[in-house]
Parts: sequence; C-alpha cells; structure tokens
Amino acid sequence: MNEDISIKQNKKLKILIASSEVVPFAKTGGLADVTGALPKALKKLGHDVRVVLPKYKCISEVKFNIKDTGKRVNIDIALVNHIGVIKQAFFPDTDIPVYFIDNDEFFNREELYRTPYGEYWDNIERFIFFSKAVVEMLKEIDFIPDVINCNDWHTGLIPVYLKTIYKNKYNGIYDSIATLYSIHNIAYQGYADKEKLSHAGLPWDLFTMDKLEFYGGINLMKGGIIFSDVINTVSENYKKETETPEFGYYLDGVLKSRNGNYFGVINGVDYEIWNPATDKDIDINFDIDTIHLKKEMKKILIKEIGLRYVENVPLVCMVSRLDGQKGIDFIISIMDEILKMNLQFVILGTGEKWYHDILYNFQSRYPEKLSVHFKFDNKLAHKIYAGSDILLMPSYFEPCGLGQLISLKYGTVPVVRAIGGLKDTVTQFNFKNKQGNGFLFYGNNPQDLLQTIRIVIDTYKNKSVWTKLMINGMKEDFSWDHSAQEYVKLYYKAIENKKINNL
Ligand code: ADP
Repeated sequence: MNEDISIKQNKKLKILIASSEVVPFAKTGGLADVTGALPKALKKLGHDVRVVLPKYKCISEVKFNIKDTGKRVNIDIALVNHIGVIKQAFFPDTDIPVYFIDNDEFFNREELYRTPYGEYWDNIERFIFFSKAVVEMLKEIDFIPDVINCNDWHTGLIPVYLKTIYKNKYNGIYDSIATLYSIHNIAYQGYADKEKLSHAGLPWDLFTMDKLEFYGGINLMKGGIIFSDVINTVSENYKKETETPEFGYYLDGVLKSRNGNYFGVINGVDYEIWNPATDKDIDINFDIDTIHLKKEMKKILIKEIGLRYVENVPLVCMVSRLDGQKGIDFIISIMDEILKMNLQFVILGTGEKWYHDILYNFQSRYPEKLSVHFKFDNKLAHKIYAGSDILLMPSYFEPCGLGQLISLKYGTVPVVRAIGGLKDTVTQFNFKNKQGNGFLFYGNNPQDLLQTIRIVIDTYKNKSVWTKLMINGMKEDFSWDHSAQEYVKLYYKAIENKKINNL
C-alpha cells in the first residue's frame, strides 16, 4: 500500500502520540495496546517519539516513577479556567518520554470513561481539556514535533486547534506541525451539543457541514478527519467498510471526501508482552517446540476458573468487552446449543448489566461447562489466551481486533466473523493442504456461527490436524516491525501534505 507516498527515509522524525489510554499505564481496550506498542517500534526505527495521556487515578506515580515537570497549562472551558499539571515518566525499561496531563477534577476518578451506570456526563469537556492541554503543553516542554499522531474521538480536536486558533499563535511555532489521525473505532465519535464548540474556544464559523457540524451538534471525530493531514484506520478491510453506510456510522461520506489521504494499516501485537514463551503472567511457558506444555497451562487455568479438567474436551474462550459490537447477542442466542456440545467455555469481560445477568443465568444452569468473569483482569486474560483451545470473536464489526492476533501466538485457534481486521488476519483452515490459521464464518445468522463451532469441535478431535492448526497460528508474525514502517510512511505523507497546503 501507499505506493504513491514519496518517502524521505533519511530524516528522523519527532513524533508525539496523543491518546486517551496507553499500555502499561491505563487500558480499557485495543487502543491502549496500540499506543503502548507503536512508540517502542518507532523508537527502534530511530525516531524521537513521545507519548501523552491523561493522568488517571489508576496510574500509580510511585510504580511508574512519575515526576512533576513543574510546568503548567491554563485551559479555559466555558469561561472557567482549569490548570493542567504536566508530569513525566518513561515507558518502563526505555528512554521514551511519556507525559501526563494531570487535573483532579477531570481525571481523578475511579474509571477512565464511565461509572457502572453509564458514561461520565462531562466526557466531552474532559477531552476538550485534554486536547487543548496537549497543544499548550508543547511550548512548555519545548518539544515541537514534526507530527502529532492523534487517536480516536478523544483527540479529534487537536488537528482542529492547530489549523484554527493556534495558527500563527506564539510566533507561528506550531505552524509546521503535521497531524495523522488514527481511527480505532468509528462507532465512538464524541458527539456533542453545538454549545460545546464555544466551550472549546472554537469559532462559530466551524459550525458548518464541511467542518464540525453533525446533525445539529458537533462531532469531534469528524473534526479529526477533516482537519488532519492524513487519516488511517487499523486494517485495510475496515478502511473499505467505513466508507460504506453500513459501517461508516454516518461518517462514510466524510471519509470518502478525504479519498487519497485515508489508509488502512493493520495493528501489530507487542510480543514483549504477548509471548507464551516469556509471558510472566502465565503459570507455564511454552512455544512451538514445547507445545505439549500448553495442556499443563490449561489444567491450571481450568482449576482457577472453577471448572473440572476433562481430557479431550476443548476449552473455548472469549476475552472481550461485552457489547453489541462484539457479537455477544449471537452467542447468547445459541448458548444452549453451544453448551450442549462436548466443550467448556470461559468468558472474561465487562459490559452492560443485562449481559452479566443473562450469562450468570447460563452459568447457574451449566456450572460444569460455563465459567464467567465480569471484570477487567489483565493477568487472567493472559492465562485464558494461554490455556484455552479456541477463541470466539463473532464481532458484528471489528476495526482490527487484537484478541485473535494474541490468541494465534498462544496456539489458541480463532473462530471469527469474516469482517474488518478479522478477515485480514485470520485465514480459513484448509483441510486438504492443512494451510490456514483459524476459522471464519460469513452471514448474519447465529446459526452460521453455530455450524462453524460444530466443525471446529469436530476438528479438535483429530490431534495431528489440530496441532498443525495451532502451529500455523503460532508461526504468524503480527509484530509491530512492519506496521510501524507503514506508520512512518503516513507521517511523511502528513508532513508533505502539510507543506503543500501551507504554500
Ligand atoms: P476493543 O479495543 O474493541 O475492545 P480489541 O480486540 O482491539 O477490542 O482489544 C481488546 C483488548 O482488551 C485486548 O488486549 C483484550 O485482551 C483486552 N481485554 C478485553 N476485555 C478484557 C477484560 N475483561 N480483561 C482483560 N483484558 C481485556
């Protein structure tokens, strides 16, 4: 891809990655995995990369050795002044700087975005504050990047600020900064009342259809798409899907209008964290040569999750937000049939309460077969990927999906719906030539999934075929090395576009 991009490979870039969550500091999903791994891969390529995120309550200053830089930014939101304290640490075991914007009122809360009853009421203000604080921070820390890589709706206003009220400001020191806007999930857009435009300190002439206006309100992701120099999303296939009404969530037309500047780059996996041979969170390490040890890990996991180990019975897992997007309704509608098969099933996830209630109910009816865990538990996630045989990802849409990439590395065979990044990364197992790393199902009917699960459970009985399938997956390389180079190409394109447009 990106053949049309002329790359000046010689210049090492100054890159700032702005994200609402970053591994290992704060995580609710795949965005954090990406913004935690990409900087390390960019650093390996020789770039000066830094990262910024909010300083949430869950981030321990002691554990990460976070220091106050003594710098402050003053941000007005709806005529109220808020102070952002700039703190700094490094990614563990690296010299990659990480900045934290600290403000008690906005970020000293139990969760990142929500209470158990719903989203925080002031999320829009929180991320207006964060976006503006990031822009203000640059002159304070004396780091003017060549490019800012913004991520999802939370940072959609950064490109808007740079091209509007910060243009020519501070003697024009920000005027050369290019932006890449990365979409990790188009379903979450940061939609707000139009009044928020002035709360953000932005002029009313942005309230038009070709700028931030969106069905009577404003849309922060739309701002990111229109005002950034280049846009990408996290797989080629999802890129195409987002340009259709079915998956574009009303932004398909806006994305198409940026045609030529919108790309798909598949996510990688951080194999320093997700590697069964070295993983410190699992009880027994293994690799392709010691693949038989996976069974020992499975036995430990099964005990830990309160099931009883039975020889030759596959353990199916799901590690996922429990959300409509993830196809949990599919699973629920065929749960009786699934649990009547010769298998055991473990689910780790958090989401809407009604999903918890329904799944608890199934667990009480099938206590020998189903084990549900409604929490965010990173260590347990590692153990489940390592100790299970099969991973289910029947997502309705999936920008890239990390679960299937992680599971491949752990010899846990993915069974996925053929959409988004799942289609780009899982290849159908071919029983004749024994190629392929998993199973895909097509169609919108839960029966399509059920029939596929039946085939998978049948395949599991043939040990030599199953071992080949596991090894095919474990051999896959979804490391960041390749994708980071694709990001660098996009950074250069963004810089080039910025120069052309400034002429
Ligand atoms: P999304 O970002 O849409 O939630 P992804 O598949 O891209 O989905 O990434 C999800 C990430 O979050 C994966 O690393 C997955 O292992 C992790 N994860 C999801 N739910 C949980 C949970 N309840 N506990 C621990 N990790 C989880």
